[in-house]
Amino acid sequence: MDPVADNKALVLFSGGQDSTVCLAWALEGFDHVETIGFSYGQRHAVEMERRLAVRDALRDGFPGWAARLGDDHVVDASVLGALADTALTDDRAIALQADGLPNTFVPGRNLAFFTFAAATGYRRGLSHLVGGMGEADFSGYPDCRDDTLKSLQVTLGLGMGRRFIIHTPLMWRDKAAIWALSHDLGGDAFVDLVVEATHTCYAGDRATRHPWGYGCGECPACELRARGWERWREGGPA
Ligand code: ZN
Repeated sequence: MDPVADNKALVLFSGGQDSTVCLAWALEGFDHVETIGFSYGQRHAVEMERRLAVRDALRDGFPGWAARLGDDHVVDASVLGALADTALTDDRAIALQADGLPNTFVPGRNLAFFTFAAATGYRRGLSHLVGGMGEADFSGYPDCRDDTLKSLQVTLGLGMGRRFIIHTPLMWRDKAAIWALSHDLGGDAFVDLVVEATHTCYAGDRATRHPWGYGCGECPACELRARGWERWREGGPA
């Protein structure tokens, strides 16, 4: 198999906090960075709407990164919503299922996303694929695990006859450590951008402003984001 010939990355980018930090991380480390997003009938399309706002804010506020930020790609993955019986795509309350997984689980979602990303990277000449999955704040999603994604990297390389490197810079960072990484990457200006422009709330609330950003403050995503913010601001152990 050929060695990786380029220093170009494709970031799985939803407009949420984690993928925005991954995008900044990639813009620091690669010569050229493109973004890819997936529309699949999410309960609230707020994150999809935030994608372009975040890209614009990055371009306006960070000239060094702007020079490396390339095209955006949006893939219609609505077939996932049709296949999955999940609270992420239906209008149902979020809860734990009998198998211990949250009912927001879309089976195989990240496997599909990375496969679509690799196909796009193949066409665009981008060998480095970057995603915001992590095991630190355990979500219970088996396709967020480090072993799953390392295995997928091997499979994609074999199946496409070309080497791809999957990067997951947040894999072992909890939410407090992700806020700290945001500050390391772009200082207060980038932390402000994450607070103002990114969206994480499952309820799609962009009316209520907290110190850590917009959201209902009560859903699991808001709770994680708020708790991480508080721990990072306190400077205590993550
Ligand atoms: Zn919320």
